[in-house]
Amino acid sequence: MPGMDLRWSYYSAHMATALLEPKPGGLYCADGDFFVDPVRPVKRAVITHGHSDHARAGHTAVLATAETLAIMNVRCGPNFAGSTQAARYGETVSFGATKVTLRPAGHILGSAQAVVERGGERIVVSGDYKRRRDPTCARFEPVEADVFITEATFGLPVFCHPPDTQEIAKLMHSVAVFPERAHLVGAYSLGKAQRVIALLREAGYDAPIYLHGAMVALCALYERFGVKLGALVPVDEVKDKNFAGRIVVAPPSALGDRWTRRLGDHVNSFASGWMRIRARARQQGVELPLIISDHADWEELTATVNELRPRELWVTHGQEDALVHYAKSIGVPARPLSLKGYDDTGEGEPEMPSQAGLFPVNGNGNGSTNGR
Ligand SMILES: [Zn+2]
Ligand SMILES: [Zn+2]
Repeated sequence: MPGMDLRWSYYSAHMATALLEPKPGGLYCADGDFFVDPVRPVKRAVITHGHSDHARAGHTAVLATAETLAIMNVRCGPNFAGSTQAARYGETVSFGATKVTLRPAGHILGSAQAVVERGGERIVVSGDYKRRRDPTCARFEPVEADVFITEATFGLPVFCHPPDTQEIAKLMHSVAVFPERAHLVGAYSLGKAQRVIALLREAGYDAPIYLHGAMVALCALYERFGVKLGALVPVDEVKDKNFAGRIVVAPPSALGDRWTRRLGDHVNSFASGWMRIRARARQQGVELPLIISDHADWEELTATVNELRPRELWVTHGQEDALVHYAKSIGVPARPLSLKGYDDTGEGEPEMPSQAGLFPVNGNGNGSTNGR
């Protein structure tokens, strides 16, 4: 398309970069003097959601949803920022001539897109997002934008996430078929764990669900914000130590750890978009892969670009190239931002598998996923 590069360079040179520009510390707005999801401590941060690669401690001032602030408080302690300001979805906050509005991103509890506006110009930073319904958070709200900044964690056509009800049915079927074994479900401790539990409840599973210690505080936080998770029991409080026929949810790092010995014979399960890659699941010793992701799959990513038709698409962490190529093919100028410091492997937390493919044995057995 001959006209494309002209429009691209005009827009980049005259408008968009002045409103928001990629810097080593993250996306920066010079007029409002703030960063979105900065990867190093800054004076003013707008934070899209509580995953550790987006929500870091040490900023002087933080603007986020009340849920995200509460998550940061649980994960980083009460002194995670000099000062905080909670914004509701749809509420607009001004920084200089620039206005910031948070809109639902559908990723995890409290997750938001940051809508950054000045004059007639609007950039939407989606943070991480998905389009499908999630019983634990508000659904993604499409916002028309001059520049839409998208993630691309699963930005390849091979990634196609089946309906989550189907994956939960697989888990419940396995529990019914193997009543003598425990079912250990690896799930990121923020977002995925609570979603899996809520989906089990929606599917009619009303027995207690057993939690690794690393999940307890965040599940309680979800409950405080009105997400019903049913009866939850920390594994350490189980008197009979008998987990046969029970579902245990633990962070990915606990799978394959000696922590799991207390569960006795168990089925290893793991809920992640990466479970779409069968070889990967097999290699990691996952018997029951559940393809449940809190990120948009290829279909959702491309449908979003089609729906919004931004004047430009900027693609952040993940599989940037294919999505950039796709956008250009439908006439939407696009470029990879190649921002550093974001986890492109999943949900902002250490992946269960080491690059070598086998379970990492971290030895401390506490399964902490708060390490970075
Ligand atoms: Zn992310
Ligand atoms: Zn995230």
